[in-house]
Amino acid sequence: MNSVSIEGKTFDLYLSRDQINNLVNDIAISINQYAADLAEPVILISILDGSFMFMSDLVRKLDFQHKIEFVKLKSYDGLTSTKTVQYLLELDTDIEGKHIIIVEDIIDTGLTIESFVAKIRSKNPLSLKIAALFSKPEVHNDIINIDFLGQEIPPLFIVGYGLDLNGFGRNLPEIYNLRI
Ligand code: 5GP
Repeated sequence: MNSVSIEGKTFDLYLSRDQINNLVNDIAISINQYAADLAEPVILISILDGSFMFMSDLVRKLDFQHKIEFVKLKSYDGLTSTKTVQYLLELDTDIEGKHIIIVEDIIDTGLTIESFVAKIRSKNPLSLKIAALFSKPEVHNDIINIDFLGQEIPPLFIVGYGLDLNGFGRNLPEIYNLRI
């Protein structure tokens, strides 16, 4: 589809399935290289809801032993950031002394990831890395160091491949951007 309508708004095709798959592949290759020599356990923590599809594709491309955890954080309402981070599902596992990789769909203002990184650091992991499929550097001004990044994008609003507008559009296998 070249365009889709969600909640009365039109979105145009931005990235095809192949393009997304290539981004996930590249991230997986980098994470596999990084994790190859790690002696201690690795835990990947996916930030729900938006990263569920990215997470499930990513872990199927990882070739080292790891555990998977999920947290559910919310900062967006409709098309905009609320500037606050709500914790709807907390981490319930001990991560002290473990290698942690946070898996996030998209980093926009950076508020969500900064809040979560601070929380994780306070639990004394052995190491902490961030994997994100997309980043909007013009919005967060590069204050966040993303260790494994799929692609930088301009300050668009995108849906599909896990990303939503008011809960809709997550199922789309491609990524679409809001027509302005
Ligand atoms: P931040 O806290 O960095 O401003 O925003 C992070 C969260 O906001 C993401 O995990 C995602 O849920 C949501 N978000 C940010 N940008 C977009 C976007 O372009 N499209 C959608 N659907 N959600 C976004």
